[in-house]
Amino acid sequence: MTQAPTHVTDCPLDRTRPPDSSTRSLGPVVAIDLGTTNCRVAAMQGSNPVCIPSERMEGAPAVVALGPGGRILTGHPARGQQAANPALAVWGIKGLMSAPYGDRKVKWLYDQLRCKVVRGEDGLPAVVLGDRTFAARELAALILIEARERAQNFLRQPVHRAVLTLPPTRKEEPLSKAMSEAAALAGLHLERLISEPTAVALGAFGRHKGKPERTAMVCDWGGGSFRASLVRYAPRQCQVLGTEGNVALCGAELDKRLLDMLMRKLPTGSRIAGDANNPAALYRVAGAAEHAKIQLSTQEEARIRVPFAVNAGGQLGDFDVALTRRELEELARPLIDSALKMCEQVLEQKTMFPGDVDEVLLVGEQCRMPLFQQRAQEFFVGVPIYLDEPGPSVVLSAARLSSTTSTPPPSGTATPAPVRR
Ligand code: ADP
Ligand code: MG
Repeated sequence: MTQAPTHVTDCPLDRTRPPDSSTRSLGPVVAIDLGTTNCRVAAMQGSNPVCIPSERMEGAPAVVALGPGGRILTGHPARGQQAANPALAVWGIKGLMSAPYGDRKVKWLYDQLRCKVVRGEDGLPAVVLGDRTFAARELAALILIEARERAQNFLRQPVHRAVLTLPPTRKEEPLSKAMSEAAALAGLHLERLISEPTAVALGAFGRHKGKPERTAMVCDWGGGSFRASLVRYAPRQCQVLGTEGNVALCGAELDKRLLDMLMRKLPTGSRIAGDANNPAALYRVAGAAEHAKIQLSTQEEARIRVPFAVNAGGQLGDFDVALTRRELEELARPLIDSALKMCEQVLEQKTMFPGDVDEVLLVGEQCRMPLFQQRAQEFFVGVPIYLDEPGPSVVLSAARLSSTTSTPPPSGTATPAPVRR
C-alpha cells in the first residue's frame, strides 16, 4: 500500500468558477445522471441522445479519492485508488446527500464506507480526505466537474448548462437542494431537476401510440439502492403516484453477500492476504466477484481468479473459486423478494394490484439479472416488462426531455407534472 498523502495539493473545485449570467443560455444542455455507483452524461446529437463514454464505458464510477501527491481524483482513477486504498476513497455520494448525518435510512451506506465520515456544516455527512473535509455537495460537484469535462471533450465546446436526474423527492428535501448546490459548484447552470422514473416513463412513451394514458411501475435496481415508483403518464405529462426505496437492497449488498459466501469456499486454514491496514487483496477479490456476478447474467458459470490474494499457512497463493448462476441466485432471492414486496406496498398505497399496471419498466444495471426479470414476470402476471438499456436509459431520456421545447411546466410537487426545477 502506498503511503497515504496528508495534504490535498490539487483539487478541481479550486479551479472551477460558479456559473455567471453571461453563460446562462450559452451552448448545449447536457443531461447528467449522478448515480450512487456510476455517473453518466448524455447530449443530443441531431435528434438522438447519446451517452458520452468514459474510457470506453458508458459511465464513470461516481467515486472521489485522494490520490498520490495529494491530488483529488474522480471516475476511473478514483476507482483504482479505492481498490488500493479504500480509506482514501468515497462512493455512494448520492446516498450521502440524501439524508442528514447519522440518518438510519442510509446506515447501510455508512457501514460500507472505509473513509472518515463526519457531520458537515449543513447537517449532511461530510468526508475527510487528507487535511480537507468535503461536504457531500462538494463531492457531488467533483463528480459533476468530471462529467462536464467529459461532455466538453466529446462535444468540443464549453458546457455551461445541465439537467440533472434524481429520485422523486420534494424540492425542499436535502437531495434536491444538495444537487442544485453541487451543480453551481461545478460551474453549471441547472436547467432542471428531472425525476428518474419520470424520465424513464416519458422516454418509454414512444412505444405506445394508441393509449393516451398509461400506468407503469418503474423498478430501478442500481448499485446503491432499489426503488419502486408507480407513475401515470401521457405524452409530455407524468405523475409519480407513489415511490419507495431502500439502500440496503442494492446491487452492492448482493456483492457483499457474494463476497462472504466466496470466503466460506476458501479451504480451511486459508485467508485473504493482507490485513485491515492492507486490504488491497480483499478489494481485488471483491472486484473480481462483482465481475463474476455480471458475467452470470449471461452465462451459467464463472470463475473468480485473483493472483496472490490468498495466504495459506504463510504462503501466498491465488484466490481461485468457481461460482454458478444458481448459487448467486440463492443469495439474490431474499433481496429480490423484498424488492417486489416494495412494489406491492407502493401499489397497496393506491389500492392497486400488480395486474392494474400497463407495464413494468426495469432500469438500473442490476435488473439485468435474469432471476429478477423472472420473478418480476411472476409477480406482475401477464403485464409486459421492458428492459431497455437499463444503465443509460435515465440519462438518455433526460437528454431528450431537455431538448424538447414543449416540455411540461416546471412545478414543485404539484401534479401532473413530471419535470421540476
Ligand atoms: P447506479 O444507478 O447506482 O449508478 P447502475 O444502474 O449503474 O447503478 O448499476 C450498477 C450496479 O449494477 C452494480 O451493482 C453492478 O454490479 C450491477 N451490474 C452491472 N452490470 C450488470 C449485469 N450485467 N448483471 C447484473 N448486475 C449488473
Ligand atoms: Mg441509477
